[in-house]
Amino acid sequence: MSSHPNDARRPALIHNILASRPPLVDRGKGVWVFDTTGKRYFDACSGAVVSSIGHAHPHVLEVIADQSSRVTFAHRGAFSSRAAEELADRLAAVSGYAGIWLVNSGSEAVEAAMQFALQYQREIGQDDRRWFLSHRRGYHGNTLGGLSLSGHARRDVVRGLAHEFAVLEEPYTFANARGLDEATYTERLLAAARKQFELAGPTVAGVVIEPVGGATLGATVPPDGYLQGLSALCEEFGALLIADEVMTGMGRTGMFLAAEHWGVRPHLVAIGKGLSAGYTPIAATLVDESVLRTLEGGSGQVRGGHTFGGNPLSSATALAVLDVMESEKLIDGVAALGDALDAHLRNLAERHPVITDTRGLGLLRGVELDSEAGGPDAVPGALAARFGQIAQDEGAIVYPVTGGFNDALLIAPPLTTTSEELNELIAILDRAFARLARELGENS
Ligand code: PMP
Repeated sequence: MSSHPNDARRPALIHNILASRPPLVDRGKGVWVFDTTGKRYFDACSGAVVSSIGHAHPHVLEVIADQSSRVTFAHRGAFSSRAAEELADRLAAVSGYAGIWLVNSGSEAVEAAMQFALQYQREIGQDDRRWFLSHRRGYHGNTLGGLSLSGHARRDVVRGLAHEFAVLEEPYTFANARGLDEATYTERLLAAARKQFELAGPTVAGVVIEPVGGATLGATVPPDGYLQGLSALCEEFGALLIADEVMTGMGRTGMFLAAEHWGVRPHLVAIGKGLSAGYTPIAATLVDESVLRTLEGGSGQVRGGHTFGGNPLSSATALAVLDVMESEKLIDGVAALGDALDAHLRNLAERHPVITDTRGLGLLRGVELDSEAGGPDAVPGALAARFGQIAQDEGAIVYPVTGGFNDALLIAPPLTTTSEELNELIAILDRAFARLARELGENS
């Protein structure tokens, strides 16, 4: 156990699980994170699918030191900065989006996308378009807007304040498409979506989706044709398509944006997490030409904003992360590394019957566990959380999903992971699954 400075008393720092006392992190290097006792952990989910270039990359540290010595903050009401201007230009060039709005967290990026959509609809005279459609099971951040969009377990906390938007059935092939071929499942999903569009009619401002479902269900990849169909429905019904790529963006799935896998071009995109790869908080909303032009030709302003949005230090840091991604050609390597990880996970599934499904895209992988193995009284998510603890004890950090619907893990190591490191990770996970099996055997 780690020596904890607050061992004798209740700590003032509030943790999600109030009674929990996680180990104290000391430092990180590459794919490894060390606690204050010196124990090392493989960062198998890049934190929360964040640390895509690994920890303590020398180039990023150098840029942070340099920018810190010049200026860390100047409010955007008075100043722009070279770092923010250059970051926006680079993101626009790599994504093809016309405008970049800088914020501090994924939640804010989604909120901003919703506000851009509402403002766009008002400025083209569509005042009644105030509603959003989103997947029944998904996660779009911890704000009232984001929680209104999803059926994530956290929504319960804000019951009464969150909107009750109509929902679309989320693509969840493992649980919902049993026995259906891909084309038939896609047709069903799109027919159900069309019904929701018809019901909502001219009140829909936008549709917000995660191209690949992340934190809620665990790397659920939609069947081919689904996102294209949804995009076509948006066109038909006058709604903007908003992709929440906070988790899937920045190359995590092998393309800069996951929507590119299906040739879909959302009007607005939220990115975060991998944008700074965890070196500092920053996120962004990407705005397409049609929306930006409408605002420019209309009110000419964006009313929202956050104090720290686009601050020079975070902007310079994100630029340094982009440098690393480009110079080390990290996105180019994702498909092969993702295939290798997929093969390893399938192999684990053969050895450990508690694993009922493996799936994912690029380096965003999901492992579904058999909830029933947790016993008749176990709540969904408890088994995955238990596995998370065991894995951490064995020396790997995985991400148990938090939606409250199923037991699944996200496995999403840094894009810089080598194949030797991947082997090491799989050996740790193998031990952890064996331990879980022993524990379940003892409890049954
Ligand atoms: N959208 C998605 C798809 C996410 O995965 C997350 C974070 N898990 C968010 C939004 C919220 O981002 P943040 O926690 O940075 O506010």
